[in-house]
Amino acid sequence: MASIYIETFGCQMNEADSQYIADRASASGYAVTADAAQASVVVINTCTVRDNAEKRAYGRMAHFKALKALDPRMKLVVCGCLAEQDRDRMQGKAPYVDAVFGTRDLARLGDALAEWRESFAGEDEDLSEQRLLVEPMGGHADCVGDAYAHVRAFVNVQRGCSYYCTYCIVPHVRGRFDNRPLGDILSECRRAIERGAREITLVGQTVNAYSEPATGADFADLLEAVAALDGIDRLTFLTSHPKDYTAKLAATMGALPQLNPRFHLPVQCGSDPILRRMNRKYTVAQYREKIALFRETCPDWALTTDLIVAFPGETDADFEATLALCDEIAFAQAFMFVYSPRRGTPAAHWEQIAPEVGTERLKRLAAVVDRNVRAWHERKRGTVVRALVQGPSRKDRSKIAAKTIDNVTVIAPLGPIEEAQLQARPWIDVRVDDAFTWGCSGEILGLAERYDGVRERVDARPTIDLIALR
Ligand code: SAM
Ligand code: SF4
Repeated sequence: MASIYIETFGCQMNEADSQYIADRASASGYAVTADAAQASVVVINTCTVRDNAEKRAYGRMAHFKALKALDPRMKLVVCGCLAEQDRDRMQGKAPYVDAVFGTRDLARLGDALAEWRESFAGEDEDLSEQRLLVEPMGGHADCVGDAYAHVRAFVNVQRGCSYYCTYCIVPHVRGRFDNRPLGDILSECRRAIERGAREITLVGQTVNAYSEPATGADFADLLEAVAALDGIDRLTFLTSHPKDYTAKLAATMGALPQLNPRFHLPVQCGSDPILRRMNRKYTVAQYREKIALFRETCPDWALTTDLIVAFPGETDADFEATLALCDEIAFAQAFMFVYSPRRGTPAAHWEQIAPEVGTERLKRLAAVVDRNVRAWHERKRGTVVRALVQGPSRKDRSKIAAKTIDNVTVIAPLGPIEEAQLQARPWIDVRVDDAFTWGCSGEILGLAERYDGVRERVDARPTIDLIALR
C-alpha cells in the first residue's frame, strides 16, 4: 500500500496543515506512517520564522536525500513557510526535492498525491532494507501518523495575519487575514470528534481577531458554538493577540467549562519603545490591564507567553524592564527567542545587536522564567492530575508522556498498561511525585476515556471516577 510520512516543523498552523495533508492522502488511499523508511512519499512541512528553523529544514532535506538515493521511487515533497519563501531558490539549493508547495498551494499538494497514488501501486513489500538503515538518525519534529495523533485535532479558523510586526515573516509567507466561515469550522470540529479527538485546538496566528465573514460573529461566539458541539471533550485555542482580548472574550472564557484552563498571550517584551518598534499595537500598561481582566475572569488558569530578546535598539534598560515584567506576571511557561533577522521584514534592515549580547540576555531571562515555571509545576506535587497521552517518552520508551489540561508535561512509567489500552482510554490519572522545570513525573493510577472533569476547573486536585487498573 502507498504510504506517506509527514514531518512538521514550526507552529500550530503547520500542525493543522499537516493534518489536512494527512486527510487528503488517506482519502486517496495512502496509509499515514510514522516511519519514513517505509514511506512512498515523505513530506517536510517547514517553518521559516527564525533562521535556525530554516537551517533545520534544509538539514532534513539533505537527510532524506539519502533515502531517495536508495529508492528513487520515493517522492520528497517540501511545503510550508520556507517553501513559500524559497520557492524559486529551492531547486538550486536542493535539486533532489521532487515538488515544492507554498502555503497557499495545499490543495494542489492534495491533487498531486492523488495523481502519484497510481504510480505506487504494487510496490508494497520491498521498500528496501537499506532504507531502514538510513532513517533512524533523524531528529526531530512532530510526526503525523503516530498511534495517538487522532487524539488531538488542530482546526484552522483563519489563515494569514495582517498585523505586520516588524520582525515577523508570517504575513509575508502566509498572506493577510482570511477568516473561515463558522459553519466550515464547526463541520471540521464535528468530523474530528467523530474520529475520536479528545482535544480540539482552534488555531490561527491571531485567533482572537476572528470575525465570521458573513455574520460578523466574533471569536467568543465561535468558542461558544464549538463548546456546544455534541461529544466535545476539551477545547483550547492558539494564538491570541493582546490587542484583541476583550471583556466579552474574557467572560466567555471564564464561563465555558470545556475550555482548557490555559491562555497563551504573547507579550514579546516589557518596554514601550521596543513594543512600538515591533509594531505590537499595545503598551506594557495595556498588557497589564488585559492580564488583570484575565485573572479576574479565569482565576487559576495557566498564563503563557512568547518573548524576544535583543530586538534591534533594545537597551539594557529595555531588557531589565522585560525581566521585571516576567517576574511580576510569573508566567506558567514562556517561549523565549533571540531576535533573528528575516529577509524582507523591516527590522532586518535596522542596526543589529551583537549575537553574544542576545545569548547572554536569553540566559538571564530563562533563569527568571524558569523559576516561575518550576513554581507552577510544584503546585501539582502530591496531587492527582488527569492528563492526555502524547506518546512514549522520547528519552525512555518504557514511560509515557502526557499533558495536563493546563499544558504541563507529565511522565510516568507504563507499568502493566498496554499501549492499546491507552489508545482507547487516552486520559491518564497520575499521582505527581516530583516537579521539574520541564514538567512533572509520577505514577499512573487509572485510565479514562474522557476528561469527565468539566466540574473541575483546576486539575491540581485529585480527580474523580478513576477507572481502576487490574
Ligand atoms: N501570532 C503570534 C503572536 O502574535 O504572538 C505568534 C506567531 S510567531 C509564529 C511565534 C513567535 O515566534 C512569536 O510570538 C515571536 O515571539 C517569535 N518570533 C517571530 N518572529 C521572530 C523573529 N524574527 N525572531 C525571533 N523570534 C521571532
Ligand atoms: Fe507575526 Fe505579529 Fe502576526 Fe503574530 S501578530 S503572526 S507576530 S505579524
